[in-house]
Amino acid sequence: MNFNDLGLTEPLLRALRDEGYQTPTPIQQQAIPIVLQGKDLMGCAQTGTGKTAAFSVPILQLLAGRTQAAHGGGPRRIRSLILTPTRELALQISESIDAYGKYLPLRNLVIFGGVGQKPQTDALRRGVDILVATPGRLLDLMQQGFITLDHIELFVLDEADRMLDMGFVHDVRRVLAKLPQRRQSLFFSATMAPEIVKLASGILTNPSHVEVTPESTTAETVNQKIYFVEKKDKKDLLKYLLEDPAIATALVFTRTKHGANKLARDLDRAGIYAEAIHGNKSQTARVRALNAFKNQEIRVLVATDIAARGIDIDELSHVVNYELPNVPETYVHRIGRTGRAGATGSSISFCDTEERAYLKDIQQLIGQQVPVASGHPYEPTGAAPVALQPPNGKRPAPAARQQATFRENKPASPRPGSGETPSNKSKNRRRNRGNWWKKKREAGGVNS
Ligand code: AMP
Repeated sequence: MNFNDLGLTEPLLRALRDEGYQTPTPIQQQAIPIVLQGKDLMGCAQTGTGKTAAFSVPILQLLAGRTQAAHGGGPRRIRSLILTPTRELALQISESIDAYGKYLPLRNLVIFGGVGQKPQTDALRRGVDILVATPGRLLDLMQQGFITLDHIELFVLDEADRMLDMGFVHDVRRVLAKLPQRRQSLFFSATMAPEIVKLASGILTNPSHVEVTPESTTAETVNQKIYFVEKKDKKDLLKYLLEDPAIATALVFTRTKHGANKLARDLDRAGIYAEAIHGNKSQTARVRALNAFKNQEIRVLVATDIAARGIDIDELSHVVNYELPNVPETYVHRIGRTGRAGATGSSISFCDTEERAYLKDIQQLIGQQVPVASGHPYEPTGAAPVALQPPNGKRPAPAARQQATFRENKPASPRPGSGETPSNKSKNRRRNRGNWWKKKREAGGVNS
């Protein structure tokens, strides 16, 4: 099956081709036709399955088809609401809608808390077709009169189980109370515990059900290692490990944009040529860094999860989890970028004291204990292995998820006393650029 078989229009097919998508994922194959028929949908699927396109692509098609009638000459009205628990997910969804809908005359906006509301309210005034929102900020702006849900035709509740885990059930119910009765609703959750089913039954009318197998197994070709290390020593441990020329290329994951920038800069200063990619960098800068990495002009690419989405690099030798993800599926996703197409790959994960709960969740999800690398110079004393709980057929406890802090948007603070200016920064980079390659050539590892 390919996307042409799903009844999608040319602007969407073209955008999907631009994204490099060749075949629809199982959830897309099942869900897209159902949504296009105007039916309600209950989807058991999690992040990483292609769920975002499964709901947003048909929503774009339906809304584009109704555009003329909806606001022929009048102001745009919010006709689709996508409610999602975290700022990180909201941003991801909005970025995806931008990409899938780039050839359609529809506007999407993402709103979440923790940042000033003015840019969001300004954009709302200009008119929006699709709104992606976290519950708190949505309710806040509704109360202030900036948003009405009276014209919603398509409603999506995404990651319902995490909404409940994070204590948003009352907020969700308050939003539901303001939606028009006549609407199409799509509901997604990774698990279907009784309270989830109960919530869904209050939202959906005669829904079609789709389910895809969770991505819970890690590629057997990936050699995984955990390094216990204090947070303050992570950078030095990474530099130490990068002395090994066997690490030909490394995709290093950090949780925040600021963290990605800082780490790339520090590695660069240490003579390891690195670039950072994240949501604050322009698309051009991201593509440039990615190409340099693919062509092995740089050895280390430091990325946040959002920026690394869709990155497909053949022959990536190492993935480094500089910070463990708080969503265990993200771990599977990250390490799946190496060891592709039968090649062997390695994943190195750093785990500090605060991240032990995340490691527990990860091991629970993948059903195995990740081997611990011991004897490295930054090993903390008394770092006991994290035990694997006996499987109970349930999703891992939400403890780690609740601690989740999504700080991608935290503004970068200047480095006090760094003395770095734009001009000496680029000088440093030029000076450092060749060092690793020089070393590797000398070791006979690179053809000059
Ligand atoms: P999601 O589950 O929506 O977060 O998607 C997970 C990742 O899969 C994202 O990086 C998407 O860009 C990518 N993706 C989604 N659908 C496809 C597809 N049909 N082919 C290739 N990649 C896809």
